[in-house]
Amino acid sequence: MRLVLPGTLASRGMALGRARLVQPSRYAVDTRPLGEDEIEGELEHLHRALDTARQELRELRGKLHGALAREVNEFIDAHSLLLDDAELLRGLDDLVRIGHYRAGAALKKQRDRLAAVFEAMDDPYLRSRKEDIDQVIARVVSALQRQTSAEERKLAARVGEILVADTIAPADMAQLAGNGLLGVVTSSGSAYSHSAILARSLGLPMLVGARDALALLHDDDLILLDAEHGEAIVHPTAQDLARYRAWQREAVAEGRRLATLANAPTRTRDGVEIRLLANAETPADVALARTRGADGVGLYRTEFLFLRHKSLPSEDEQFIAYRDLVLGMGGLPVTIRTLDLGADKADAAGLVLRGEDNPALGVRGVRLSLRYPAVFSTQLRAILRAACYGPVRVLVPMVTQPDELIAVRTLFKLARADLKRESIDLPEKLPLGAMIEVPAAAINVRALLEHADFLAIGTNDLAQYVLAADRGNDALDNIYTPLQPALLRLLSHVIGAGRRARKPVSLCGEIGGDTGFTALLLALGLTEFSMHPSQLLQVRDRLAALDHAALRGHAARLLRATTHEQVAELLAQLEC
Ligand code: PEP
Ligand code: MG
Repeated sequence: MRLVLPGTLASRGMALGRARLVQPSRYAVDTRPLGEDEIEGELEHLHRALDTARQELRELRGKLHGALAREVNEFIDAHSLLLDDAELLRGLDDLVRIGHYRAGAALKKQRDRLAAVFEAMDDPYLRSRKEDIDQVIARVVSALQRQTSAEERKLAARVGEILVADTIAPADMAQLAGNGLLGVVTSSGSAYSHSAILARSLGLPMLVGARDALALLHDDDLILLDAEHGEAIVHPTAQDLARYRAWQREAVAEGRRLATLANAPTRTRDGVEIRLLANAETPADVALARTRGADGVGLYRTEFLFLRHKSLPSEDEQFIAYRDLVLGMGGLPVTIRTLDLGADKADAAGLVLRGEDNPALGVRGVRLSLRYPAVFSTQLRAILRAACYGPVRVLVPMVTQPDELIAVRTLFKLARADLKRESIDLPEKLPLGAMIEVPAAAINVRALLEHADFLAIGTNDLAQYVLAADRGNDALDNIYTPLQPALLRLLSHVIGAGRRARKPVSLCGEIGGDTGFTALLLALGLTEFSMHPSQLLQVRDRLAALDHAALRGHAARLLRATTHEQVAELLAQLEC
């Protein structure tokens, strides 16, 4: 019988496929205590499963390329670290050796223990790490079950399937997407989670918060996932299927129409020119940025070079990566962001300070770079050398106050003088810009503009810091929304200050590439958008339908709104 499960739209699209359920915490809990003579065998069994889980993560890392690798590697790093965590491993061994637990039961016990510790934490960021523990232990349990029952690898082939789970880790989503998965329905989770962001960049339809999905669905049920309207239809009728076919035809036609926009100029309906830049890290991103007609690279995140290596990348290694990026853009400007390590972007080379109570508020971004001037200067030299091959701008992350920009400029001058002494011919001037992602930087932006040649607003972090809400924490959905009036006022303040100082201001957070926010950002005066290159055509298309002058005329009304619900209502009125 037809059944409709409502959920929250996390990534648009539709898909028709068979349900594949992943029940949470399906631990093979055999609670019979081990006999003394079984202990060594059980430990071996457990460690084989741990090795399999480590191996899976390594293989997964090797398979990912391009934007996907950029988005997923940090989660793989976090999960790999957990699998090697001495305390976790000792706890498991003790449960088997001393407590006579079987491997599955020991894993469940450790999971429950750690979950309780994380749940009791005040810090929402740390509390949200419980999800990582769940996902890592579930991976080991699944390896354990495969060994015992020789069960087929569940994750292997998902062709024609729609995954139904409580949550899904970004790494698993990346792997499944490469194996023909059609869509995802989760019973919890948030539209701002990293998995949701990944689903959007993969073009995979996703519905989150479909509360009863796991209880009501069965493996192999036919599902029409309608992530255009926020529902999953189980046992769809002939009418549902006709609607799906109509959507498919439209999607194909829309894809063809968008492709014709690749070489079109970016203008609003009333003819205002807008600059569209790409957030690009890999050669594949750069190629896509060129073919989709980006005006340049607005954000190149260099930390991914550092996260990939076990040791620090040398000046030459960095130079080659930056030079290839500059050459790849064929004379269009490229914005290279200096290292933004710290918080959840832990490095393998040991730069990040361990044991900070509050890493998201700790020594990250430029704060970290200025603590390691030798490492930072190596990066600045590599950037300067790459700038001989085309126009380069340098962007500094996590700026809080002017003295950080002054210090960066001083190090830059020293690096330049060194290179000149080595007879390397350098371009005269590289524009130096500040990321605006710390509330203090946004509020005091005029002071920063005295030292910055341009600004790039990082709304992912700015929203998180203004609202004191971790964007990965699905318990905070009602707070972490870019429509919050406090955030809009800050954006308007920063964009206006840049305009008055006649210095370019771009925006490179997730909302820059989300067509749901394009009208709002135009209304606030933004004229430079930076986004993943896969989003360029949709945003160009959206801009062509919007009237700049009319939207600017509504800015004051939007800025007077007092709640995010009110902003959403006003926006809905503007868009129709
Ligand atoms: C941001 O914070 O909005 C941003 C673009 O930087 P990142 O996502 O790398 O922190
Ligand atoms: Mg940021």
